[in-house]
Amino acid sequence: MPNRRNFLQAVSSLPLVGGFFATEAEASAVAPKTNGRDYFKELGVKPFINAAGTYTALTASLMHPETMAAINYASKQFVVLNDLHDAVGKRIASLVHSEAAMVTSGAASALTLATAACLTGKDPERIKNLPNLAGMKSEVLIQKTHRVGYDHAIRNCGIKLIEVETASQLESAVNDKTAMMFFLNDADPKGQIKAAQFVELAKKHNVPTLIDCAADVPPTENLWKFTKMGFDLVAFSGGKGLRGPQSSGLLLGRTALIEAARMNASPNGDTIGRGMKVNKEELIGMMAALEVYLKRDEAAEWKEWERRAKLIIDTVTATSKATRGEVYVPPVANHVPTVRIKWEKAALKLLADDVRKQMKEGTPAIEITPGSSQAKAETQEFSVGLWQLQPGEAEIVAKRLREVFKAAA
Ligand SMILES: *Cc1c(COP(=O)(O)O)cnc(C)c1O
Repeated sequence: MPNRRNFLQAVSSLPLVGGFFATEAEASAVAPKTNGRDYFKELGVKPFINAAGTYTALTASLMHPETMAAINYASKQFVVLNDLHDAVGKRIASLVHSEAAMVTSGAASALTLATAACLTGKDPERIKNLPNLAGMKSEVLIQKTHRVGYDHAIRNCGIKLIEVETASQLESAVNDKTAMMFFLNDADPKGQIKAAQFVELAKKHNVPTLIDCAADVPPTENLWKFTKMGFDLVAFSGGKGLRGPQSSGLLLGRTALIEAARMNASPNGDTIGRGMKVNKEELIGMMAALEVYLKRDEAAEWKEWERRAKLIIDTVTATSKATRGEVYVPPVANHVPTVRIKWEKAALKLLADDVRKQMKEGTPAIEITPGSSQAKAETQEFSVGLWQLQPGEAEIVAKRLREVFKAAA
């Protein structure tokens, strides 16, 4: 039985038939270059085709060859880290039309450093004391519907989250302990106070704002939409849609706050952010990934995702008449065409859990979008993420799904 690597090498050595690869370069990018060593194999860890999405636990996204070249470049010389961060921050800020920018070790780190900046400003004593808030403000306002596990990154700073639902509740919750107002962009459809009004209320009460946009590109314009709207600080994940280093993120926003966030971060030793280290490789890698991202053909990329969706839906629904397929696009985070396949449990001897398991355990291994078990549900369904598939892999996913559904028919 060929493993995935052999399989892909075999595929990539074929002539370019059937639309598998757009270019030779893409074909060779799929076959790992290992300098003769297959580290994952040595370690007994099995790589897979990512038909799930940008899940951190599944290593999220793959860096573009140009980004890897930039990282290799950065790995070969020493520089003064703060000088490089100043320059990279300036370049990134100009690319995304922000007043200032910094690279963080992920969106979660951006949330912590942003909160720290609002609490301490540039006061060295306060920076040393975090998360002890003696003498500082200590509350962050949040809409109840915007609570999310990631807000732990804000709570790391010792603050208390104050939940509100309406604009008038928010206004009466503001007091002299209010350090910041936090908005989760993905929760915008659920909250009563929408983004623009949230900013307006914060300005009225002179409270700085932070918005979490971690998974919110595409569309590209989100990279500047929220600083333009008036948010003081904006956080993005570097390793999701942007395909930068997995341990990178962006914090964009007002110069004084970005400077304060930098002071709360590595390489400064006595800071809350010292454990969120970012070195020259992440700095250059993040910047290069952003440049690649801004240069790409957004419309062509979207069209390719739609092509993959159609291929997979057509293949499954033709194999099993019991199934229905649809393309859906989540409204904010992970705003990309995604496949959903459904069928009535009684119509097939196959559960969605079985599909996930068989795809994962097959050759090549394929991870489809994780989901909680619905073994008891009348309607079975699973999703397939398309945007992290490499060229040629949608065809492999469709073929494997055909085998799984054929066997169940
Ligand atoms: C993924 C995510 C984060 C964390 O991003 P990292 O870059 O992995 O640190 C934070 N907030 C939201 C809403 C996310 O989806």
